[in-house]
Amino acid sequence: MSHQLGPDYVRAIAPYQGGKPISEVAREFGLDESTIVKLASNENPLGLPESARLAMLAAFPELARYPDSNGFELKAAISKKYGVPADWITLGNGSNDILELAAHALVAPGQAVVYSQYSFAVYPLATQAVGARAIVVPAKNFGHDLAAMAEAVTADTRLVFIANPNNPTGTFAPAAELEAFLKRVPSHVVVVLDEAYNEFLAADLQYDSIAWVRRYPNLLVSRTLSKAYGLAGLRVGFGISQPELADLLNRIRQPFNVNSMAQAAAIAALTDVAFLKKSAEVNAAGYRQLTEAFQALDLEYVPSFGNFVLVRVGTDDGAGARINLALLQQGVIVRPVGNYGLPQWLRISIGLPEENAAFIAALKKALAR
Ligand SMILES: *Cc1c(COP(=O)(O)O)cnc(C)c1O
Repeated sequence: MSHQLGPDYVRAIAPYQGGKPISEVAREFGLDESTIVKLASNENPLGLPESARLAMLAAFPELARYPDSNGFELKAAISKKYGVPADWITLGNGSNDILELAAHALVAPGQAVVYSQYSFAVYPLATQAVGARAIVVPAKNFGHDLAAMAEAVTADTRLVFIANPNNPTGTFAPAAELEAFLKRVPSHVVVVLDEAYNEFLAADLQYDSIAWVRRYPNLLVSRTLSKAYGLAGLRVGFGISQPELADLLNRIRQPFNVNSMAQAAAIAALTDVAFLKKSAEVNAAGYRQLTEAFQALDLEYVPSFGNFVLVRVGTDDGAGARINLALLQQGVIVRPVGNYGLPQWLRISIGLPEENAAFIAALKKALAR
């Protein structure tokens, strides 16, 4: 007799592997937590913005009450910043939630979802969770091959995920390519343009995706407060789309998916221009520091537009795991990407200058072994 629980498509899911927590590495390797450097989850090395910390303190006494389920004030802040009406906004428990909501609201079991090879790990998870079929389009130079992705759309495709910049490769698709893609995709297919790293883009690369939302009812732009805004632990993200699509997502959203502290912190962080500017500056300097070291060590890396760099640490398929272990033993946590099909590579989040230096020193030792 079979006692199998759950449908096959759920049993086939390989659970998400996050960056190792500092406490876990300290326990496993017998290290002092305070000496560990974590460059594994693309978190903001500046920590929490002071503006957000103060907003949370002010929100603290009200925690016995439920949050505002419609996030009125947070939507007002987003509305003001992006010039869209409040009913174009969907709030998420991280932007991860927005990606999941899109899959659940739009895709029925057996229908198809298109995404790129080497794109964000949550796309296959969201696809599998709804029993959909993944159409994985081979990457081009580690990035999205948008022409091939447009070709790959089938009659039963309902959703396309695009990360720009992409994680874990850091590649960037220029505005003109994205616009050409949007023109080609049929209107029954929703395009999720995941812009988790948008705030790190140099001014000359910025593009107006909100203008595209006005033109394309099948476009959903997703943003997060986890990266440049430094609020990863609070879980806040949002989607911007025309109201018909926002209304669909809202129907299946958990009523209180963004908690009160997170709403208060996000409102403060969104208008904290100084913090955002500093995040981008620290990131640009750290990118130079890391990539100069990779060049000196003769290591191949993928030029990145995010707050992390993908670097090739060896030419055999054991290299990523081996160097990762040697780094962990020295108290440096980075992200192995074998699960993405990149076993010779590691993804390094950009940290503070001294964190980057500690990683570089540990990497040199690891490579010399
Ligand atoms: C980090 C990341 C996200 C979302 O993170 P949340 O913390 O859930 O907002 C979304 N997309 C990509 C590509 C990311 O790298």
